[in-house]
Amino acid sequence: MNAPVKSLDLSFSNRPETTGPIPLVGMTRPQLRDALVSHGLVDEKKAKMRAEQLWRWIYHYGVTEFDQMTNVSKGLRQQLEAKFTLARPEITERRVSVDGTRKYLIRMASGVEVETVFIPAVARSGALCVSSQVGCTLNCTFCHTGTQPLVRNLTSAEIVAQVMIARDDLGEWPTSNEDRQITNIVYMGMGEPLYNLDHVSDSIDVISDHEGIGIGRRRTTVSTSGVVPKIPELGERTRSMLAISLHATNDELRNELVPLNKKYPIAELMDAIRAYPDLSNSKRVTFEYVMLKGVNDSLAEARALVKLLSGVPAKINLIPFNPWPDSPYECSDWDQIEAFADVVNRAGYASPIRTPRGRDIFAACGQLKSESQKIRASERRRLEREAEAQSATSES
Ligand code: SAH
Ligand code: SF4
Repeated sequence: MNAPVKSLDLSFSNRPETTGPIPLVGMTRPQLRDALVSHGLVDEKKAKMRAEQLWRWIYHYGVTEFDQMTNVSKGLRQQLEAKFTLARPEITERRVSVDGTRKYLIRMASGVEVETVFIPAVARSGALCVSSQVGCTLNCTFCHTGTQPLVRNLTSAEIVAQVMIARDDLGEWPTSNEDRQITNIVYMGMGEPLYNLDHVSDSIDVISDHEGIGIGRRRTTVSTSGVVPKIPELGERTRSMLAISLHATNDELRNELVPLNKKYPIAELMDAIRAYPDLSNSKRVTFEYVMLKGVNDSLAEARALVKLLSGVPAKINLIPFNPWPDSPYECSDWDQIEAFADVVNRAGYASPIRTPRGRDIFAACGQLKSESQKIRASERRRLEREAEAQSATSES
């Protein structure tokens, strides 16, 4: 499908709100220090120590009020309160699946809502899937987010806030190194992280800091549809794990499924992947492959996949397609997914099928948002009908 590329809407109402108190959550350590100095709260000499103190309250204890910072003087707490905020954005929907998956719809500002999904422990690691943009400019044909226009990039504050909210909900404060539920962060929610690399990189600096949330860079995976020129920068700036949404083994099919492939074809993508820093058997690239019935799921394609990845330290995630209303594809039959997985397994890649999680709560990328919009639209229509009926009775 040759869908038009949507452009960034930079109208004022869609920008991060610039009035009101400034969120401290999401600032990197140097940014926090600079903010304290530039707002005249501390002098240069004490800035580092103060920033460290605040950092611990924010990311170790998860406080949401300055008054909880008991070793900070009352005067400074009042000054902080006047300029900054620790408030969390509002959760507009929260759903918990029978399998423990939790999905949040979070309202960052008026008309700016994103999804965050917690996928509970698989082999002692639970992952939080965060969004990096509201909507997406790319139009991958199997992806529901791709049908939603890009509203804007999320700020680092808004990305980190997703982690804070999930940890509030899971009762994970103060930070402990044992019994954590969120052990990994995956940038696989709404949006293309490499089109928002500055904020993604800042958010990783904050989340990975070992005196705070402490989810390390090796436990952080950034997924891209293949923005080739940004892959080296991602590696240098974040040192995070790389995931590639591959979905096809030849350019003809990938052009159709992931239209960005027309700009950055598979050969160029593979070159950028091979050059990603520190790749080894303990730091492998994850290749995501969505299983679409009769489209990309033949055994010949499984063999082509193995051939394409030879020589790259790789993991393969076969993702059963999660259908959405009016989606143009079906998920491959389970037997076919298993046969495909067998070929991949025999080539030395272990346990590649990602079990569908949270289907009962619309856990696929971009779905809770549209579902809740639908519910809200039908609720609105019901209220409108009631109001009409009421005014009709009061007029008569
Ligand atoms: N934009 C980035 C990250 C977000 S999408 C990217 O494309 O990699 C995260 C993953 O979910 C991608 O691998 C994407 O291909 C996959 N995905 C999107 N819609 C899906 C669906 N309906 N069913 C299964 N996987 C889907
Ligand atoms: Fe955007 Fe990723 Fe969805 Fe493609 S798969 S439309 S890049 S969010």
